[in-house]
Amino acid sequence: LHMVAHGTRGPDGQPEYVGALQDVTERRLSEEALAKVRAELAHVARVTTLGALTASIAHEVNQPLSGIITNAGTCLRMLDANPPNVDGARETARRTIRDGNRASDVITRLRALFSKKEFSLESVDLNEATREVITLSRSELQRNRVVLQSELADDLPNLTGDRVQLQQVILNLLRNASDAMVDVHDRPRQLLVKTEQMDGDRVRLTVRDAGIGVDPQVVDKLFDAFYTTKRDGMGIGLSVSRSIIERHHGRLWAERNDGPGATFAFLVPRDPENVTDAAPVMRHS
Ligand code: ADP
Repeated sequence: LHMVAHGTRGPDGQPEYVGALQDVTERRLSEEALAKVRAELAHVARVTTLGALTASIAHEVNQPLSGIITNAGTCLRMLDANPPNVDGARETARRTIRDGNRASDVITRLRALFSKKEFSLESVDLNEATREVITLSRSELQRNRVVLQSELADDLPNLTGDRVQLQQVILNLLRNASDAMVDVHDRPRQLLVKTEQMDGDRVRLTVRDAGIGVDPQVVDKLFDAFYTTKRDGMGIGLSVSRSIIERHHGRLWAERNDGPGATFAFLVPRDPENVTDAAPVMRHS
């Protein structure tokens, strides 16, 4: 039930209340259904994006695995030597553990990104979340000869948000930026990822590329579902990203650069729960 009431004073100074009581069951049910569809779509978008990164991710896991095999071989040779080189063997065993942990970290991150969770709020270190996405995308970016530069603010405070969904947005922006530079051959394919703390207890993340840029006539269309200019595109990345940022009470937008390319940025309050909407006098629902 949703109740709205307004208190005034009658002609004789007595308090008077006017109230309305509304059955909002249907509205609640459709809101729940909408949230479920949104979550499904976000999941599809994430799996599609990650699917495209498979080769890059396989490389990210394969590297530490090769390290483990090489180090284990070296370790055996050092132990078999006469006299055995125990110190050297110990050091190579340490490296083996380090590489094992590295491979396992990549898998843990991937599992989190592939998992299907309801929207959940937690304390998020946006720099750390960004670094993880960069790690997963690194070899793909290298393969596309993208020069990645990151400027992550030292003193960035944690924010309250859904970590995996925010990472999905960052992943999308990086991938789009890289795609936009595929046909650039006459200048460096520079990509800048930046985080900063803004006024009003807000945090901003900016992704700037040197790609084909955005046409001011279609800049708003980019965020529509199923709008794509790519041969194999689905056109849901930016629309899902915008809805994720709006759920954080933030804003996601695109701008043309002064030079070539485009800049996509989002701004979110550190604590979305503390964003107040204009509320009526009394509200219980
Ligand atoms: P998709 O990547 O499947 O096309 P998106 O919703 O992520 O779906 O992007 C929609 C469209 O927005 C893209 O097809 C492209 O035309 C445009 N776009 C997105 N990012 C950029 C960018 N960094 N530079 C230029 N155009 C972009």
